[in-house]
Amino acid sequence: MEEAITAIVRYLVIKKLINDVVALVAIKEYLIDGESPSVIAFKYRTSKFKVRGHIQRVIDKAGNYRVATKVVEVVYPHIASIEPVMLRSGGRVLCMLCNTYLRASDAESHLRKKHKEFINNIIRNITNIVISRVRNP
Ligand SMILES: [Zn+2]
Repeated sequence: MEEAITAIVRYLVIKKLINDVVALVAIKEYLIDGESPSVIAFKYRTSKFKVRGHIQRVIDKAGNYRVATKVVEVVYPHIASIEPVMLRSGGRVLCMLCNTYLRASDAESHLRKKHKEFINNIIRNITNIVISRVRNP
């Protein structure tokens, strides 16, 4: 359970920091609200294939659907308090941590490589809160 929590926190924190709203709502609406991938895809003007991809990655980290749902339920409210650090500007994104313009497709790897310490601190804080909640509900 704790490994699943850490992996899912990391995934959701990075999605929030790069401001990938569709990935976050897709995961929440599928696992928590029970919405279907095609409804989610239609609502957010994306493909069903992409929606399934986001959901599958979280389920893989959890090991199964039931654990994924349980973990996302506990973790999701903590993700809301994180401010994105990437701003969209035309076709590019601006990393507000180092004032660098990037291609949107490079945002995630930029964050992982250049701001490792920053993201690890956030992940550590949220993981600790969530694990203590799971242990002492
Ligand atoms: Zn940066």
